[in-house]
Amino acid sequence: MSQPLVGMDLADLREALGSDQPGYRATQVYEAIYRGRATDLAGITALPTALRQSLAERIAFGLPEIARRFESADGTRRYLLRLEDGRTVETVLMPEDERDTMCISSQAGCAVDCKFCMTALLGLERSLTAGEIVGQVLTLVHDNNLDRAHDPRRLNIVMMGQGEPLLNLDNVIKATRILLDPAGFGLSPRRITVSTAGIVPKIAELGREPVRPKLAVSLNASTEEARSELMPITRKYHLKDLIEACQAYPLRPWEKLTFEYVLLKGVNDTDADARRVAKLLANINAKLNLIALNPGPEIPYQTPDPERVASFQTIVRRSIPCFIRKPRGLDIFAACGQLKSSAV
Ligand code: SAH
Repeated sequence: MSQPLVGMDLADLREALGSDQPGYRATQVYEAIYRGRATDLAGITALPTALRQSLAERIAFGLPEIARRFESADGTRRYLLRLEDGRTVETVLMPEDERDTMCISSQAGCAVDCKFCMTALLGLERSLTAGEIVGQVLTLVHDNNLDRAHDPRRLNIVMMGQGEPLLNLDNVIKATRILLDPAGFGLSPRRITVSTAGIVPKIAELGREPVRPKLAVSLNASTEEARSELMPITRKYHLKDLIEACQAYPLRPWEKLTFEYVLLKGVNDTDADARRVAKLLANINAKLNLIALNPGPEIPYQTPDPERVASFQTIVRRSIPCFIRKPRGLDIFAACGQLKSSAV
């Protein structure tokens, strides 16, 4: 079978339907998948039955299968989704009063090897297709009835699950276009954020995209040496070049560049680090999110005390907005840096 329907844009659908079909058929299928929330071909009721049947014989619908669900005491849900080739990938839903945040994966596993992240232990299995990225969103929307109970504008999507999105940029962009298309999933560009470990040339490439998500950069250290230890990718893409790429990044008028900083006890959490971080980001329209380390059995670092985190925040706040991110779903290994397809 060829490429499945989920993940196809209008041009793909026109081609898949064939030139003997009128052009509006592609639009009908597109709207049914991404806006109408169809879950299979039979659900695309706008199509004549005979066409639905002939399509079903040659094209899969393409939503991932829910292998397992884990529910946290705080309401967070972690999903283990099975892809067509049998691999699994994780997606997390964090319901809140005002909005829901969905954390999706861009790759199965990850090649980047950050020393504080459990996903690194998997290594890279493979990049996800655009359909597998969009499919995570659709599956969780269906499973949680988000289409009925919630306005899609209330939904925030962060690409902070497994994988390095900028090492799968083409598929990430294709998925983002479908998610942001008013005739597609219809999300506002303010509501989707892609997070990178700092793939410098790809940051510039993303900035040239006319339709793009917001960008977050995982900073995690305040000097070249410290960052090279924690995030070996720094030896390839230096901190200095990363900061320059961020300074040159074309922000939209309503946009700030988000930086993330995982605080590791006694490693990168001193007041001097905080002052250096404030200095590094001084010429960028930036905000900083602090995350105290979410521990994992194989991770050789400790979580700092809340007082240390607060002191770090106080110093950074003198220069730029700085927030402390509360961990969600720690008890089910759903929090930042804990996604390694664990089935416990
Ligand atoms: N590869 C991308 C997206 C995935 S990581 C990136 O690096 O940005 C998403 C966020 O979780 C990153 O900011 C990362 O620094 C953070 N993170 C990783 N491991 C963590 C841990 N153990 N505790 C807290 N945050 C962690």
